[in-house]
Amino acid sequence: MGQRIVVLGAGESGAGAAVLAMKKGFDVFVSDMSKIKEQYKEMLDSRGIQWEEGQHTEELILNADEVIKSPGIPNNAPIILKIKEKNIPVISEIEFAGRYTNAKMICITGSNGKTTTTSLIYHIFKTAGLNVGLAGNIGQSLALQVAEKNYDYYVIELSSFQLDNMYKFHANIAILMNITPDHLDRYDHNMQNYVDAKFRIIQNQTEDDAFIFWNDDPIIQRELKKYGIHAKLYPFSAVKEKGVIAYTEDHKVIITEPIAFNMEQEELALTGTHNLYNSLAAGISANVAGIHKEAIREALSDFKGVEHRLEKVARVRGVDYINDSKATNVNSCWYALQSMTTKTVLILGGKDKGNDYNEIADLVKEKCSGLIYLGLHNEKLHAFFDPMGLPIADVQSMKDAVEAAYKMAKKGETVLLSPCCASFDLFKSYEDRGDQFKACVRAL
Ligand code: ADP
Repeated sequence: MGQRIVVLGAGESGAGAAVLAMKKGFDVFVSDMSKIKEQYKEMLDSRGIQWEEGQHTEELILNADEVIKSPGIPNNAPIILKIKEKNIPVISEIEFAGRYTNAKMICITGSNGKTTTTSLIYHIFKTAGLNVGLAGNIGQSLALQVAEKNYDYYVIELSSFQLDNMYKFHANIAILMNITPDHLDRYDHNMQNYVDAKFRIIQNQTEDDAFIFWNDDPIIQRELKKYGIHAKLYPFSAVKEKGVIAYTEDHKVIITEPIAFNMEQEELALTGTHNLYNSLAAGISANVAGIHKEAIREALSDFKGVEHRLEKVARVRGVDYINDSKATNVNSCWYALQSMTTKTVLILGGKDKGNDYNEIADLVKEKCSGLIYLGLHNEKLHAFFDPMGLPIADVQSMKDAVEAAYKMAKKGETVLLSPCCASFDLFKSYEDRGDQFKACVRAL
């Protein structure tokens, strides 16, 4: 038998990693503490890959030469601690897959805007006719695609959890959208640990590579000074300021490097300040990859947006309903509120990851006409927001939330689901939460 690879967690990334490891001739074993979905069992069975579910059998795991850990498993899970005690290297699926491809890697991370920017870049590359795969948190795992497809480029969304276990992986184009507190429960409630994880995106970059980032992020600015960055820097901002290579001026989007590019700002498909950042980051990366201006312009103006991100659902009796279920932290809700053009009834709440609501306090006072707390435990929301004196409702189901919003919102106002929190207290996922919202709104 060759080297033994154990894959922990058999979701999209774990199953894909196992398939690639098998193809490369490793002795592969997959172990998942929970039940494995049917589709992944089939994927493993059809390739003769051994697996277990509902347990971690130590004798079958602690004899590994290397462990591939799914991003959902925390670093302090008992089995991981035992693996580390034995000095067995733990890597992520992306790290593993990166060893077996020479494709150019365009990698996107940040606290907010990852999926939108990743999808937008993929759309531009497709529009330009490039042979490109989409991977990371979206769609098929990178490992599965490396095993079975042959792309020239990959556009990869990277969460901090994936970055945690990346060491040698090399991003040709790295994009860091922003860094605001998120997932602190997984980083010992220490912000610096989370920041360090995000900055792993630039490790191993050389002067032939590009690092694209939002210039006005105070944390990114502070950290930049600490690192000896080799890549060429492409900072962007909403406004023309010292050092930036992309910005807006006179209603035009302007990119100055490496090739001069401009288009009318009103032609951008995505609206709102946060989406301007996403469009700038995507435009720069396409420009760096040498994509023609016409293709970039066309793709930035006909992109359809991504579900559950400031998604317009319906207008009912003069009230607009907007689904921003993916706003799972306070900063993304800040951007959602900031882009509201009418008074807003905000539905928020869920599984709190250590939120500080001070960040949205001023916007809530300015924009909100009512608040609906949707969660199993709403005490923290009551304590923070009740003193503002707005009408409030306390609910434990989406149906009740939408009904309460329907009663509260006046004609001309907006109902916004932008929860600031993860969904796992009442819903399966943020998609489930958004889908239930849309179904309830449509049933009004
Ligand atoms: P992620 O994949 O990082 O969670 P998404 O693209 O899915 O990001 O967007 C999640 C939410 O974050 C959106 O609904 C929107 O409210 C907000 N958002 C999107 N882009 C940005 C950005 N560049 N800066 C801040 N907030 C953003």
